[in-house]
Amino acid sequence: MKIYLNGKLVDKENAKVSVFDHGFLYGDGGFEGIRSYDSRVFRLKEHIDRLFETLHTLMIDPRMTKKEMIDAVVATLKANKIKDGYIRLVVSRGDGDLGLDPRKCFGKPNVIIIADKIVLYPVQLYQKGMEIITVPTVKNHPNALNPQLKSLNYLNNILAKMEASHCGYNEAIMLEENGYIAECTGDNVFIYKNGVLSTPHLGRLKGITCEAILELARKMKIKVSEGYMTRHELYNAKECFLTGTAAELIPVVKVDGRLIGDGRPGAVTRKLLDNFHQLTKKDGVKYDL
Ligand code: PMP
Repeated sequence: MKIYLNGKLVDKENAKVSVFDHGFLYGDGGFEGIRSYDSRVFRLKEHIDRLFETLHTLMIDPRMTKKEMIDAVVATLKANKIKDGYIRLVVSRGDGDLGLDPRKCFGKPNVIIIADKIVLYPVQLYQKGMEIITVPTVKNHPNALNPQLKSLNYLNNILAKMEASHCGYNEAIMLEENGYIAECTGDNVFIYKNGVLSTPHLGRLKGITCEAILELARKMKIKVSEGYMTRHELYNAKECFLTGTAAELIPVVKVDGRLIGDGRPGAVTRKLLDNFHQLTKKDGVKYDL
């Protein structure tokens, strides 16, 4: 396996960064999870735009243009001969001293791109739907660590994930501090009822998959709404599903023990998943192996 590390494609064994990297010491950096389908990188430009926004807020200069970043992702896929894969793009602040002051870092961020095979949820989960729960760990407040930042510090989400898995569930719904639904640990949340598809507007990562689903829904003439969502609305939705680069769109049939709709993946959910699969065949940056 070849890993992109600061402008070079190196063997996995040699893809190493220092223990003084502030990404390692403090979670100081940003990342993206991207997917390629049959030699097309889905919404690569949008992922790079989001990464650059994260880095802008963190005041990390990757010392590469967006175009160079896009080319580096494609080069990594080609070097590994991957047609259908998952790409992890990491930009950390780079080396510094043991204090957390970014001014004492050397201004040489580490840019790492890993292209690998994707590991999905089992097919049965897409057919039967998932059961999930809400968990006690609240979503980071936007004025603390804004959930729109895809930062290397994912502890908020990891704590919630641990709470879900401790109770025997794969995913957790996280609430904002005021009790409104925010998102899952690695996915956005949608509900459908009375002809309206809704997703929370704030307190969540602006998912690339979420945006694609909203676009598809509008094309299907389904009304969409982004706003506050309570647990009551979630429990009483007709359909519910989660979206994310890795999961794509996965139906949810039970939340906190409450059956959603008739307890089976809904018709709108299935149609959106179909349309999403169609979209992945034509959208994105094409490359040849
Ligand atoms: N929320 C969180 C917390 C995430 O980490 C992710 C990405 N795995 C998402 C939502 C979904 O975003 P995307 O569709 O861009 O993968």
